[in-house]
Amino acid sequence: MSLLDEITVICPRCGLSKHVGVFRSINATNDPNLKQLLLEGRLNWQTCESCGNGFQLIADLLYHDIPKTFMVSLDDPARDVRQLSTRKELTPFVRDYVLRIVGSHAQFVEKIRILEDGLDDTAVELLKLTALTSATRALGGLRRGAIFYNGHSSSKLNFLVRDEHGVILSETEIPFPDAYAQSQKQLASRGHRPTTGEWLTINIDHVIALWFRRPAGLPASPMSMYWT
Ligand SMILES: [Zn+2]
Repeated sequence: MSLLDEITVICPRCGLSKHVGVFRSINATNDPNLKQLLLEGRLNWQTCESCGNGFQLIADLLYHDIPKTFMVSLDDPARDVRQLSTRKELTPFVRDYVLRIVGSHAQFVEKIRILEDGLDDTAVELLKLTALTSATRALGGLRRGAIFYNGHSSSKLNFLVRDEHGVILSETEIPFPDAYAQSQKQLASRGHRPTTGEWLTINIDHVIALWFRRPAGLPASPMSMYWT
């Protein structure tokens, strides 16, 4: 069941205060229309009636896909105790699920895209590091959080580079499934195994930490793996 709550928001531009509905939980299986709104960037989005400013509501959010057996939890630091207890209560019932925690709405949507496409998100994060390296060459210095998975075709994985306001700066593609399979292989050699039933944060920092626990004889940098 999806869960709607009511909160008070203040427009960051003009300061107008208003009671609005905010989704705390989405069951993608029962409410595919909410999933669609989310993927289009329209869920928990507010347009101020006074100044017309559009902004994303900051709210914790739980996404549940039953047939694809995954859950993603978007954390709001203001409500972390409550979220922690919700996750703890859920865990015994979702032992065979992929369980993820993310820290921003953009990461939330991205994680759902990755898991819905049936991909191993650790392998995708490693490829994002590669894609980020190639984008940095073209655009100059970029934040690690600037790159997002944006779907795949039969031959390419597509990534978007965004600025801090979400504006798309560029697109990068990586061969699929070859580079993806290679990424999985490299991670397996570092002891990575996809796990279920455990709430994890899998991002570029996680992959860097995993990579530098490398066995002898393997290349020192993931950046040199696919693009030389
Ligand atoms: Zn306003």
